[in-house]
Amino acid sequence: MFICAVCHYALDDNLRVEPTQMSRLSRDLLHLNLPYWAEQEGICRDCFDRFTHARSRVSLYLPGTEGGPPPRFKILPTPLRLGASPRYTGRGVTIAFLDSGFYSHPDITQPVNRILHYHNVLTRRTDPAELFTPDDSSWHGLMTSVVAAGNGFLSKGLYRGIASHAKLVLVKVGTTRRIYHDDIRRGLDWVYRNRERFGIRIVSLSCGGDYEASYLEDALSQSAERLVKAGVVVVAASGNAGHQDHHPVLPPASAPSVIAVGGFDDKNTLDPNEHDVYHSSYGVTPDGLQKPEVIAPSIWIAAPILPGTPTAQQAALYEQLTRVPDGELKALLAQHAGTDPELDAAAHLEPYQLRLLVEGKMRNEKVISGHYKHVDGTSFAAPIVASIVAQMFEVNPRLTPQQVKRILIQTARRLPNVDPDRQGWGVVNARLAVAAALNGGDRVKLGHHLDLNGI
Ligand SMILES: [Zn+2]
Repeated sequence: MFICAVCHYALDDNLRVEPTQMSRLSRDLLHLNLPYWAEQEGICRDCFDRFTHARSRVSLYLPGTEGGPPPRFKILPTPLRLGASPRYTGRGVTIAFLDSGFYSHPDITQPVNRILHYHNVLTRRTDPAELFTPDDSSWHGLMTSVVAAGNGFLSKGLYRGIASHAKLVLVKVGTTRRIYHDDIRRGLDWVYRNRERFGIRIVSLSCGGDYEASYLEDALSQSAERLVKAGVVVVAASGNAGHQDHHPVLPPASAPSVIAVGGFDDKNTLDPNEHDVYHSSYGVTPDGLQKPEVIAPSIWIAAPILPGTPTAQQAALYEQLTRVPDGELKALLAQHAGTDPELDAAAHLEPYQLRLLVEGKMRNEKVISGHYKHVDGTSFAAPIVASIVAQMFEVNPRLTPQQVKRILIQTARRLPNVDPDRQGWGVVNARLAVAAALNGGDRVKLGHHLDLNGI
């Protein structure tokens, strides 16, 4: 047995990759991204494969990383940061998303359109044309749905979600300005009525109600409970008020059968010593339940930029500027005059100064590339957990929502030095959860009792 330096599982020696079996490039890549790694510590075959795969995607996609030494990942792709198996991608599983609006983004519509249906609870209509309108309200749901189920079409596969083959049902329950308690309930009731029509197994909510309430009296909580009873897993963000005096977990996340997801900050590194708490909401509900149950990454998450917005034009220009040689910078800026007034005003600068300015703008505005930014909030932790549940249903469609919740809790690992109130059972563990789901879901034991080979 040995302990893998990346996933920290105790594994059979035949799964170990020795540094001598790695190319120089791979070793350098590991050192850059795992500063705590000592070469005598073994790394398992699966973790090594994930790294080399991600490495090939980075050099295909991220500007400025062609040739030269292997880069530190600018932003860790979600499956890599969670150690999720690339073999299971939510095939055959449908996830419904409730949010302020959605957009028909290439990461969920190319090469195959995986959007099964779109419904607007506010108008009670189904007009797919709304999915092509770059309205501000579309942005939030665009991000949450792609974080879970995007396939990275616009990033050559680099920024895919864990459930990159799942099908999607998109339910608009509000606007950027406001999402009402009762509209979320109507959204859940719509999912209830249509769950068999679209084969919906999971609902992911990155929105919460208006007030605290006991599930015994609250219609929104009861709608969520009814869905779980009908066999649908309901995952909800716990909220982002953990830094305030009052930080309640609101319906539907506060309902007993819902999986409330809080966040943690992995500092965009795989080093577990760096992992820390995020200001997600937590506490005891009016029914005396401690929420959230689990936590997931909620910062440094790659998410798509809404096409057709000024941000999209600026991000595209920044990326182009990082790709062209010095001699073409000014011509490119002139060609895109008006896109970014600050850059227009700086057009007289020397090329290296211009490059510094562009780099600074990308950093400040959290732009990763022409199509992606990094974002934060438990709004992203919830769909990440939903995408892990999609993997679990892919390997074992017979699981009940109760089994799913139990597996997620039993395979989670607590962050040391973080109050259990804030993190529940701890950080979700994609690989162990899928292994337990494969195992039947009834007897979940400690990690080393599960056969992780091939997961
Ligand atoms: Zn490993």
